[in-house]
Amino acid sequence: MSKAGKESLYQKALKIIMEAGEEGILQSELWKLLGATSREGSRIALKLERRGLITRRRELHDGRWTYRLFPKIRKISVASIVGCPCLTCPDAFRCAPGGVVDPVYCYDLSRWVLETAPIEGDEGKE
Ligand code: SF4
Repeated sequence: MSKAGKESLYQKALKIIMEAGEEGILQSELWKLLGATSREGSRIALKLERRGLITRRRELHDGRWTYRLFPKIRKISVASIVGCPCLTCPDAFRCAPGGVVDPVYCYDLSRWVLETAPIEGDEGKE
């Protein structure tokens, strides 16, 4: 398989794992979706784990040990930064950690983070 083909397979695998979210996906299910052999699949999973993109957790499934794969990265959307004060801040050009204007001490940013960040255990509640 060409290098571009391999990269494409890694990207497809990562996309599937990311879509599986917190439930994760069994290695064997992933290989079926990719049309890959279990040997290719194991190699892909190891490489994605070494790159810090996924974690593999050992699991007993139908009497056999396998791995469940979980994403370590998440898709973010533009919606997640709507309302961030930095987007319209007149001081943004000189704001940097340890700088004249420091985001660590920014009241507006702290307030926005506290108002918009989900409280642990409250996800999905309305
Ligand atoms: S952290 Fe505060 S000061 Fe810095 S750009 Fe954002 S809103 Fe402006």
